[in-house]
Amino acid sequence: GREKGYDRPMLKRKNTRAIKVGTVGVGGDNPVRVQSMTNVDTRDVAAASAQVAELARAGCEIVRLAVPDEQAAASLAAIREASPVPLIADIHFDHRLALMALEAGIDGLRINPGNIGGEAKVDTVVRAAAERAAPIRIGVNSGSVEKDLLARYGGPTPQAMVESALGHVGMLERRGFYDIKISLKSSSVLHTIEAYRLLSDRVDYPLHIGVTEAGTLLPGAVKSAVGLGVLLFQGIGDTLRVSLTHDPVAEIGVAYEILRSLGLRQRGPEVISCPTCGRTEIGLIALAEEVQKRLRDVPEVFKVAVMGCVVNGPGEAREADIGIAGGRGSGIVFRKGEVVRKIRGEENLLPEFMKELDLFLAELRAR
Ligand code: SF4
Repeated sequence: GREKGYDRPMLKRKNTRAIKVGTVGVGGDNPVRVQSMTNVDTRDVAAASAQVAELARAGCEIVRLAVPDEQAAASLAAIREASPVPLIADIHFDHRLALMALEAGIDGLRINPGNIGGEAKVDTVVRAAAERAAPIRIGVNSGSVEKDLLARYGGPTPQAMVESALGHVGMLERRGFYDIKISLKSSSVLHTIEAYRLLSDRVDYPLHIGVTEAGTLLPGAVKSAVGLGVLLFQGIGDTLRVSLTHDPVAEIGVAYEILRSLGLRQRGPEVISCPTCGRTEIGLIALAEEVQKRLRDVPEVFKVAVMGCVVNGPGEAREADIGIAGGRGSGIVFRKGEVVRKIRGEENLLPEFMKELDLFLAELRAR
């Protein structure tokens, strides 16, 4: 059977203020939300819409888009219209782009009010955001800390980042605006952890967590898992983004693996596979990779095992709902540790196992 508590969150999360990004609740009792950002040109409506849809299919719940100019802002209405998930416009410095984005129906802004050119412009943006119930995310990173704070703290230290964020927050609070989310990203895992811990002690706004510029797929996933894992374990984090120098769709899979390993969220099948050893007689690594890839957009929660040998495979993977174990040029399919089928010929392992998986999924969906 399932591990005890497998379906329930076991970590105690900090109780933050609940806000709404479009239809998606963030903070409070809401689950930790998975976010990402498109990396195509926002001015290209078709490309941006396609990527938003692809991210949503993979389980991304909120998508952010860079809005560098008026043409990008002008594309937002059409992208928003087609999007199955709430969208956030990422804006630097130019408050007119923020107004255009709100006009286009964007669900939230990422903008730092201290950087948009004065109190009057902040007034306008905050009023427009409030009218449309669009929250504002303040995003401080080590590069955006103000000069006076850098001088006072001797660099973009975690304390300096927190002070910087609180400065922006104050500008919104003074206007009676509290639909706020905050992020403090550093490319240093330790700085990121320290900064969020300090901030979490000072505010009860929901926090968007991430390690920025984390790198390519493997190092980026590891840095994110360590940094975000430590924070989530301490109950900190209401939305998260795994930043990778890679196709953003991969970020979603990594994000859910992090959340799953902490018992916070479950989405999609968990593919467990053995590390292979001298007993392995099939091309297991390629098989496991391919099974994982083909299940990418499946939202149902179950366990799949891909094991190298019949000796230990089904036994070691007894808790798997469905699995395959390789033999010499052959394989067996098992469900909950019971062998249900033999497959002959190594070339048949993948197609035949995929058929078994389709069957399993059809049964699961009919339940
Ligand atoms: Fe080796 Fe079999 Fe264990 Fe895989 S399941 S690591 S092949 S003993």
